[in-house]
Amino acid sequence: MPNYTPPLDEVLFTLREVTAYQELNSLENFSHVSEDLVEAILNEAGKLASGPIAEINHSGDKEGSIIEDGLVKTPIGFKDAYKKFVDGGWNGISFPENIGGQNMPFSLGLSVNEFFTSANMAFSLCPLLTSGAVEALSAHASDELKNKYLLKLVSGEWTGTMNLTEPQAGSDVGSLTTKAIPNPDGTYNIFGTKIYITYGDHDLSENIIHLVLARTPDSPAGTKGISLFLVPKFIVNEQGALIEKNDLRCSSLEKKLGIHASPTAVMLYGEKVGAKGWLVGEVNQGMRCMFTMMNHARIDVGVQGLSIAERSYQQALDFAFSRKQGKKIGAKSKEAVSIIEHPDVKRMILDMKSKIDAMRGLILTTGVYCDLGKHHSDEQKRNLYNELVDLLTPIVKSWCTDIGFDSASTGLQVHGGMGFIEETGAAQFLRDSRIAPIYEGTNGIQALDLVFRKLNQSGGLAVKYLFNDIKKLILDLDSIEDEDFLIIANLLQQSLDAIEKSTDWINSKITEDYDAAASNASLFLDSFGVLLGGYYLSKAALVSYKKIEEEKANSSFYKNKILIARFFSEQNLPKVMNSLISIKAGSSALNSVDFKNFGA
Ligand SMILES: Cc1cc2nc3c(=O)[nH]c(=O)nc-3n(C[C@H](O)[C@H](O)[C@H](O)COP(=O)(O)OP(=O)(O)OC[C@H]3O[C@@H](n4cnc5c(N)ncnc54)[C@H](O)[C@@H]3O)c2cc1C
Repeated sequence: MPNYTPPLDEVLFTLREVTAYQELNSLENFSHVSEDLVEAILNEAGKLASGPIAEINHSGDKEGSIIEDGLVKTPIGFKDAYKKFVDGGWNGISFPENIGGQNMPFSLGLSVNEFFTSANMAFSLCPLLTSGAVEALSAHASDELKNKYLLKLVSGEWTGTMNLTEPQAGSDVGSLTTKAIPNPDGTYNIFGTKIYITYGDHDLSENIIHLVLARTPDSPAGTKGISLFLVPKFIVNEQGALIEKNDLRCSSLEKKLGIHASPTAVMLYGEKVGAKGWLVGEVNQGMRCMFTMMNHARIDVGVQGLSIAERSYQQALDFAFSRKQGKKIGAKSKEAVSIIEHPDVKRMILDMKSKIDAMRGLILTTGVYCDLGKHHSDEQKRNLYNELVDLLTPIVKSWCTDIGFDSASTGLQVHGGMGFIEETGAAQFLRDSRIAPIYEGTNGIQALDLVFRKLNQSGGLAVKYLFNDIKKLILDLDSIEDEDFLIIANLLQQSLDAIEKSTDWINSKITEDYDAAASNASLFLDSFGVLLGGYYLSKAALVSYKKIEEEKANSSFYKNKILIARFFSEQNLPKVMNSLISIKAGSSALNSVDFKNFGA
């Protein structure tokens, strides 16, 4: 199985040339973040990812996490790798220094996560959930809770979980029934069952801090009556020492399609006296608190799509050079050639690569907007960037995770029969990638969020800003007298026109015809993602063109960026134009079908 090579040059190019990174560099909060420092950090993260963490990916998949006598054990090597991860300070890379973090930009943290997730998606889930817990506690917990828990969560000494799902409450979180009964001392006793809890129990850290959604007595029905509680596995005294096991346990682990090394736990709270919990934020404000946790987690899950696609691509490319099969049509030689010589295999490889570059552009741009939205000195700009993050988050989550799975499938296809055999690892990428479109809010729910909430938030400020940016780029592309750029500009313009029309159509249905808007939401999100992908690739192509011109260099890296943009534009942007036909078709056929009488 080929090794994983962290794509350092690609990440640096995207950060510096495609995103608004220069603006971020000028912020006071990041004045210490020099280009050299960024490169050094990525280099070190890459070493740990491609070494000890990648090494236990395949074995972790085969062995899986297990539960024995009530204790959850991660596969061989995970404890060791986690210790190296924590000792290196990677858990707190993007958190502020006052809570023990390294105060690096969130966008840089996303690239670090990309490396760890490509190396081992099941491993990287543990820090992903811990980061979410840190976000929620930092924003909403009392000083007392912050002082007690944040430092150890940021360092990774303790880990965090997110407990929303119950057997009857999945996408509809509002139907959860876990109870929180108040005690006279201000704490609560938690009673209920949570399912599918990622790293709900494990042996990587001495304590696990569960963030649990539950209802207090007499709370209103639905999401308005949900509160958030901190429920530690071991209760912690004033000095920070673990004093007593809380009344909670993992009763079983799920057997699942992929990410076998990541323990997915059924958690029982309050079998005896009640699990002791502390309120985070205010009563009935739990969803608001949880959204703080989930928003960044959704971007992190989008990164999983990118990471798996990158890993699958690297392996497929390697295989395509080493596997010899068939002759080159039209060549004199009767020798078998590497399959990379065949146009259909080239197509598959370039399809993966172009989508990877597009996803990285989208993800890192969103990450930089997160940083600017938090730290920019100008309030108006902060608002604008936060609007952009809100709009882009469901697209990052859904578009990238769908591509992650598709690319893992394409990578497997490049291997032929060997892809279906577990030994190559291509099959593991396919299995692992399949969860990402499901958790952190299914992709269908993300599409509804985009259409019904984000599109018109603040009068559609973010959408207008993005469309305007794309128009400006098209003018720049148009000014270049070169066939590649004429083609790219023309296709980008036509797909922008199509999305503008789709947006108008969707907007006209939102209030008057829910079904028509809802049934097209996923297609709309996908088309929006493709348009943005084309935009970021075109930006990369334009920068590359200028670099070649200025430096009079014909570097293949830059030349390839132009070809990648043209290939993606020709192969994918026409789908955006066609989607307008499907979207405008509405849902009359769909809604006329009698699903009960399809017949056997
Ligand atoms: C491996 C794994 C790890 C997980 N980790 C965690 C975790 O750490 N913490 C946690 O709390 N949860 C976790 N989950 C749960 C996960 O978030 C849920 O599975 C997910 O939110 C979907 O809920 P569900 O499975 O009940 O599906 P359902 O909600 O039953 O959905 C089934 C289908 O119906 C669609 N659907 C449902 N409602 C609507 C609607 N209103 N409109 C349109 N379509 C709809 C969905 O999109 C989906 O396609 C995990 C799940 C898995 C499998």
